[in-house]
Amino acid sequence: MSHCPFCKKKIAMSKAFCSRSCKENYFQLIAIQVPKPFLKRIFVFCDFEQREVEIENFADRHGWRLDLLKNKIDELAVEHGFTS
Ligand SMILES: [Zn+2]
Repeated sequence: MSHCPFCKKKIAMSKAFCSRSCKENYFQLIAIQVPKPFLKRIFVFCDFEQREVEIENFADRHGWRLDLLKNKIDELAVEHGFTS
């Protein structure tokens, strides 16, 4: 057994992903780049509401899915020690 790299569901060894959407989400997530100054700005200088707006604009500007971008930002925030 192998695991889908996006949702971690068990899949057959012959498959790389469990579904087409997991494949697309996985590659989109890898493509998302969040610059550290942006991260710092939204966590240090913005309150919760301003941060939501900034993240939405950022997703729009780059054509990324908002939920994936938020996952990525949450991950990076932990990594860099920013707390919301
Ligand atoms: Zn999956």
